[in-house]
Amino acid sequence: MIKKAVVCGGGGFIGSHLVRDLKQKGGWVRAVDLKKPEFSDSAADEFIVGDLRNVGIAQQAVADMEDVYQLAADMGGMGFICGDHDAAIMHNSALINLHVLNEAYQAKCRKIFYSSSACVYAKHNQADPSNPKCSEESAYPAAPDSEYGWEKLFSERLYLTYGRNYGMDVRIARFHNVFGPEGTWTGGREKAPAALCRKVAEAKNGGSIEIWGPGDQTRSFLFIDECLEGISRLMASDFSGPVNIGSEEMISINNLAILVSDIAGKQINIKNIDGPEGVRGRNSDNRLIKNTLGWAPSAPLRVGLEKTYAWINKQVRIKKLAQNVVHHA
Ligand code: NAD
Repeated sequence: MIKKAVVCGGGGFIGSHLVRDLKQKGGWVRAVDLKKPEFSDSAADEFIVGDLRNVGIAQQAVADMEDVYQLAADMGGMGFICGDHDAAIMHNSALINLHVLNEAYQAKCRKIFYSSSACVYAKHNQADPSNPKCSEESAYPAAPDSEYGWEKLFSERLYLTYGRNYGMDVRIARFHNVFGPEGTWTGGREKAPAALCRKVAEAKNGGSIEIWGPGDQTRSFLFIDECLEGISRLMASDFSGPVNIGSEEMISINNLAILVSDIAGKQINIKNIDGPEGVRGRNSDNRLIKNTLGWAPSAPLRVGLEKTYAWINKQVRIKKLAQNVVHHA
């Protein structure tokens, strides 16, 4: 029998790739989102454009579905999630989770996947850029550095209670900085890899780019294909999580910019300026995923970055061409 699944947030970056992946595996897929994917047609069999803060839409979303993938969230990169949007982030994402989870329970869906985030980890454990602590249990006692992280922690607990009290089969992943083609690359919600690819693509050889913070802050970045592999393996397993799905290849932001410049074949000068930088260091800890799923992401950062740079470079050129056409019209 064909498996039926809904991807909430199926118009977003990870969600639209997930829809394609589930279709390629032979499923019937419904996607629900405020908007359709920006960069390509959705592969979904059915696409509901709707607001999951609305209980009626959440009900429609999960109707007749076996598996539910809940990725919808009000989110963005560091420039978006720190400060001015806090109330909206907490209110919108909490409402989505409350409704989607409860409606999935009422509709007797088989399994529900929830995408949490590395942003749940305690700020004081990520003060040393060369030695951050992000093992799953270290999320408690809780002290995330953003309200976005607090909402994720609340929702993780919400899903776990539905598992404990109502016997729901829940799966929770903590994604660490996922990137790849067809991700947001401009407009203020983009994350570091996309932002740096754009800045380098826009810069002239020998030119300079600005980087928020001192540049020694560290992160790890997970290519979309390995994120999808992790979701698929977690759903197929008996393990509820929360579990990290991330790369252990930690890199400083300045070195990430150097790597992107090298991929682009450009000599670029880095100017470190004041700006939101988040925690000082963050890296995935993959001991639990290896122990429970017998697998962990392993692809080199450079490989995914080459594909992402090529795609963003193309977007930058298309945008420039369009601007020239308007200019000369
Ligand atoms: P995204 O912003 O591209 O996708 C989220 C989607 O949710 C968007 O398409 C948005 O329109 C949709 N959405 C927001 N509010 C909605 C509403 N009220 N009703 C219906 N749809 C709504 O983000 P993404 O990078 O694809 O992330 C997917 C999930 O993974 C999110 O929950 C995010 O918090 C989590 N996550 C992502 C990363 C990452 O690096 N990309 C890291 C950690 C966690």
